[in-house]
This record gives sequence, C-alpha cells and structure tokens, in this order.
Amino acid sequence: MPGPSAPGTAAGGMRLRGTVAMVTGASRGIGRAIAQALAAEGADLCLVATSREGLADVMAAISGTPGQKLALGFDVADRTACQAAVAQCVDRFGRLDALVNNAGIYLAKTFLEYEPADFQRLLDVNLFGVIHLTQAALPGMLERGYGRIVNIASTAGKWGSRNQSAYNVSKHAVVGLTRCVALETAARGVTVNAICPGFIDTDMLVDLKRDAATKGVADPDAVFAALINQRVPMARALRADEIAGMAVYLASPQASGLTGQSILIDGGMITA
Ligand code: NAP
Repeated sequence: MPGPSAPGTAAGGMRLRGTVAMVTGASRGIGRAIAQALAAEGADLCLVATSREGLADVMAAISGTPGQKLALGFDVADRTACQAAVAQCVDRFGRLDALVNNAGIYLAKTFLEYEPADFQRLLDVNLFGVIHLTQAALPGMLERGYGRIVNIASTAGKWGSRNQSAYNVSKHAVVGLTRCVALETAARGVTVNAICPGFIDTDMLVDLKRDAATKGVADPDAVFAALINQRVPMARALRADEIAGMAVYLASPQASGLTGQSILIDGGMITA
C-alpha cells in the first residue's frame, strides 16, 4: 500500500486519516500532546512509553477519536524492542507512515559532576532511541516511497547551555542525525525534520525545579520565573500543544517539501 492521501485529499478536518503514526514518549508532556493532536486528525496510532499506566491514561483520553490505537510499553534504548515494536505496528496497521521520536530524559549536572554512565544513559535514550526506531522504520518507508520522521530535539541541540552538557550533546547529535538522514532519503519520498522546543511546561520542567531545590536553591519557582523572563521574549514557558501543531504538520503529506530542518519553537529566544 502506498502512503496516506495526497495533499488536500483528506476528509475535512481529518488531515491524517489514513496515516499510521508512531509516537514515543506519548504518555506525558509533549508526546502526549502530539498523540492527542494526531488522533484528532484521524491518524492510526502506535503509542510508546515505558509506563503502561501512563499509556493506558492517554489511550483513554483519545478513545473517542476515529483512528485505531496500539499501546506498546518498552524502553527506546532497547534496540531489539524498537525493532519488535515497528514490526508489531506494521503487522497491525500494514505500514508505518510517520515516526515521531519524542521520548527523552534530562539530567542537570556540571560537566565535572557527570559520570560516564550519565552520558551513556542520556545518549542511549535521547540519541540511540532515535537511531534504533529510525533504522527499524526507514526501510519500509523507502520501499513505499513515503515517510515522515519527526525528531523532538531541543534548543539545547542548537546552542550551548551551562550544567547540562550531556543533554546538549545528545540533542546536538539528534539535530546532526536529522540533517544527515534527510539528505540520504530526500529523493525517495521520506522527509526527516526536527523540532527544537525551548522551555515547555511539562514534568521535565517540574523535575528541573525539584532538582534545583535539592541543590539548595531557596525558591526554584521564583528563580525559574526570572530565568524565563530574562531568556524568553514571550515571558512564559510554552504549552505542549504549541509543539504538537508543528509535529502534526511535519507528519502530514502536506509537509512534502520540507526536510533536514530543525525548527525552533522557543517563544522567540532566537529570531535569526
Ligand atoms: P516528560 O514530560 O518528562 O515526558 C517524557 C516522555 O518520554 C514520557 O512519556 C516518558 O514516559 C517517555 N520516556 C522517557 N524515557 C523513555 C524511554 N527510555 N523509553 C520510552 N519512553 C520514555 O518530557 P517532555 O518535556 O514532554 O519532553 C519530551 C521531549 O521533548 C524530550 O525529548 C525532551 O528532551 C524534549 N524537550 C523538552 C523540553 C521541555 O522544556 N519540556 C524542551 C526541549 C525539548 P515513561 O516515563 O512512561 O517512559
């Protein structure tokens, strides 16, 4: 079977009817918002996270949408599990049209505090998770001449930051991987893009503030608010649904001319 409808042919408001999409890290935060937005556009969905309870919750939240859904609980750092998940998705839906590599972890430390194991785990999840799933999904996409890969990187993949070098390394790698795989697939109907969110109001930010509190920051909420005011021209953390809209577009047939890009959605932090 070829890919989903050509641009403009999907039923009204259902831009992704006929699209089979996999979203990792779909149980919470940005991934959950992306899953909900894809579901609202009629996509058939394969949702991934490690927590089966979290997946059950998002599955319940989107149960009224028209597409079929499959929840798969596994660690994206596990290559064998990634390959099995793509195979299961193809068994169930016949193909995989769009892969949204969103699952990610964060760990704040100074460079000297990081253990090699910290670097390893951040790379295993944030980079190798993307590599394993993309290598599993891409052959089928190339064979059919249609595919959409959407990687959720970060502003941390675009510039340096203090006290999170392992995270930035992993996200710079995702931006680099996006550029390179896009070039290899551009002539064969497969697009590969990244979204680089700035500060987004999710559990990841809650964890960051909790971590600051354990390190002796007296009022992490106030410190964080000051940081946002100073760094973000919109003077607020963005909502996860403000990332989801771009992910839906990049995962759709309409985004056929766009590849190799890493698109900042950061409230205006960098406007160049
Ligand atoms: P979050 O609220 O912490 O959610 C992370 C999601 O990833 C959860 O669904 C989690 O589910 C899943 N996950 C974590 N490790 C996994 C693993 N090894 N295998 C499978 N699933 C895993 O984070 P978020 O803020 O939504 O972040 C989503 C993505 O956006 C990440 O790649 C992050 O780096 C990126 N990002 C976030 C921000 C921000 O400010 N929030 C900014 C820039 C970029 P389980 O716990 O059930 O596994």
